[in-house]
Amino acid sequence: MSGPGRRGVTGGVRGTTRVYGILGDPVAHSLSPAMQNAAFAAAGIDGVYVPFPVAAADLAATMTGLFAVGVAGLNVTVPHKEASARLCVALRPRARACGAANTLIRTPRGWVGDNTDGAGLVASLAERRFDPRGKNVLLIGAGGSARSVAHAFARAGTRLLIVANRTPQRAVDLVATLRRRDAYAADLRVLANPEVLGRLDLIVDCTSTSLGSGVLPPIRFADTRRDLLCCDLMYGKTSRFLAAAHHAGRRTVDGGGMLLHQGALAFTLWNGTPAPIGAMRRALGRATRRASAR
Ligand code: NDP
Repeated sequence: MSGPGRRGVTGGVRGTTRVYGILGDPVAHSLSPAMQNAAFAAAGIDGVYVPFPVAAADLAATMTGLFAVGVAGLNVTVPHKEASARLCVALRPRARACGAANTLIRTPRGWVGDNTDGAGLVASLAERRFDPRGKNVLLIGAGGSARSVAHAFARAGTRLLIVANRTPQRAVDLVATLRRRDAYAADLRVLANPEVLGRLDLIVDCTSTSLGSGVLPPIRFADTRRDLLCCDLMYGKTSRFLAAAHHAGRRTVDGGGMLLHQGALAFTLWNGTPAPIGAMRRALGRATRRASAR
């Protein structure tokens, strides 16, 4: 598997085909294989990307084994992002800052971890002409994705960054890692605070409530600015949060763009070339429609 082939895998997997994949549990639902295989084909890279279901107890052996057989690059999804970061030989600053990896890069010394989730969201917001620099942002949640997103916003230069979480101590802990005077922790009562709501440019829901695990307190959109942008990291169907924001006439964006751009950034980290975004976007759109129809 040494050396990037340039012919794509349209002729089938060969001895020279480079193998990439995603580690998760579960992972069968992941849309990344559709997106990355389309990228390899469009870029003419002789590569194939496969889902690897891995139990937590097997993560270390899997990472070692896949490195030994020459796997060229990996993504990591729930629940392995933190554990895989601890198992890497080194972490790039974005992964070190949030203590989690979603992308593993092959190096002669072993796997090096990076985290493209937060930067993926920032790139997706840029497509909506939203630049976080100098903006007031409320981030709801303090879990794995919120950590990556909070650090990406801090790097991008937000003016005010509020992290609100059901378990307030987790928000306090996350804000402490940002080391910024303009970042604050809060509990979910902030969602009903008209003074705060009236200052916001962006609200990002990074909780798993969109997946059905509970409901956030309602936001009084009448207290928000008319040009407020509302973002939910979930994709594939409209969340209650985005439905309410849309109903109130506020702009909305779901997590589909973040998924696309975190994958595009990973592609570039592995291959050193720009990702074929158009082909990836089309493949993701098809895969999302297939998944929603199931
Ligand atoms: P985690 O499990 O790490 O974090 C979950 C967060 O949701 C915590 O802050 C938790 O609060 C909060 N939460 C859960 N239930 C409730 C509730 N009933 N009320 C209020 N808050 C609640 O999840 P992730 O960060 O990994 O993922 C979060 C979401 O982001 C998921 O929907 C996931 O699909 C999506 N995602 C999308 C990506 C993309 O590319 N678009 C990439 C990664 C994630 P507490 O601390 O109190 O438990």
